Amino acid sequence: MNKLIAKLKSFTLWELLIGMKLTGRYFFSKKMTIQFPEEKTPTSPRFRGLHALRRYPNGEERCIACKLCEAVCPALAITIEAQPRDDGSRRTTIYEIDLFKCIYCGFCEESCPVDSIVETTIKNYHFTKRGDNIMNKQELLAVGDKFEQRIAQEKADDAKFR
Ligand code: SF4
Ligand code: SF4
Repeated sequence: MNKLIAKLKSFTLWELLIGMKLTGRYFFSKKMTIQFPEEKTPTSPRFRGLHALRRYPNGEERCIACKLCEAVCPALAITIEAQPRDDGSRRTTIYEIDLFKCIYCGFCEESCPVDSIVETTIKNYHFTKRGDNIMNKQELLAVGDKFEQRIAQEKADDAKFR
């Protein structure tokens, strides 16, 4: 009996019809695809993207080289070297983040006492050559300078949820 049913199914292309039924259902249903980059999917308010180092409004860098972010980073992605300036203030001489090691946990941002290192909502970035994955201090500050307004707004919005 089973053999007969199998032959009948084979003869009537039953599996194909089942497949076509599924295809037909999705053909007429609402499409889930979007036309990236013109269209974008919604971003979670908790999304963590590209890092940035921020400055104060007077242009002075916020980072005081306390190395808390380096210590807390579970991926050992942050490298900091520091020394005092002539005026006695402590600043980094090297601040690097390896974005290939980073797991975007946000611990660095959480640990920073002066809101210096942040993870922005920037998600579209790429590297074109070996080594570009290691962002240095100048690159991180440049991201901060370029997007300071947006970062400040995101920080303010974030504070509302806390
Ligand atoms: S987001 Fe997490 S893994 Fe990435 S640099 Fe910060 S602390 Fe390290
Ligand atoms: S970014 Fe913040 S936590 Fe990291 S060394 Fe600078 S001040 Fe300290």
